[in-house]
Amino acid sequence: MSPTTARREIRSWRKWLSHALDLLYPPLCVVCGEGLSDGRALCDACDGDLPRLAEPYCERCGEPFPGQIEGPFACPNCSKLKFFFEFARPAMVRDERTLDMIHRLKYGRELHLAKELGRLAAESFCDPRLAEALAGKWPLVPVPLHHKRFQHRHFNQAQEISRELSRHTRLPVVNALKRTRATEHQTALTRAQRLENLRGAFILSRAGQRQIGESPAGAILVDDVLTTGSTVDECAKTLRRAGFQRVVVVTVMRG
Ligand SMILES: [Zn+2]
Ligand SMILES: [Zn+2]
Repeated sequence: MSPTTARREIRSWRKWLSHALDLLYPPLCVVCGEGLSDGRALCDACDGDLPRLAEPYCERCGEPFPGQIEGPFACPNCSKLKFFFEFARPAMVRDERTLDMIHRLKYGRELHLAKELGRLAAESFCDPRLAEALAGKWPLVPVPLHHKRFQHRHFNQAQEISRELSRHTRLPVVNALKRTRATEHQTALTRAQRLENLRGAFILSRAGQRQIGESPAGAILVDDVLTTGSTVDECAKTLRRAGFQRVVVVTVMRG
């Protein structure tokens, strides 16, 4: 059996299995527990209730600002920093319910949640700054996992979200980056330590090289949450140094 046929077989089995599971255990809204249909994981009411990023927000990192500000501005944190990406555009603001969905995808392996999270992330593309990326068919580049973590988790959440984003935006997914070493968990580290921890952690993949050969105009890095931005920045650095002219970032949520 050719790899393509095998993949197709697996996909149709998965579909069948998910239908069978839906019949046995009807899907419930991940937030309120209401019964759902049509393969959804979030009901319309909860979906509408999750807070989206709205102006004013930092033009670099998407941190929302409570209050009135006219025109673009950078938050105090970003105005001191230099990034290799132009801007990061999270779709959602920090919210326990959205974060819970991300955690359930990542650690609870609830893969069906990637569909809802990718759809939410696609709302970032209403930002006019992303119009050029859409028109220029810039590739969606998932932030990669190290293969050891991939082996453990069996999937990369950023890739699953990218796949869904691709369905909504018609942009291609290109796994342009590879993680060369497993990095320590970043949560407890300072910014300087995070940067040191990440230095040289990514390289351009063969797919990335091909993409640059065909169209180096730009790339859209995709991740689940943007916290300090140090991981996406190291990825952006790798992409820029390899030859991508511009790099922007899209995430589901601002952490
Ligand atoms: Zn609900
Ligand atoms: Zn900022």
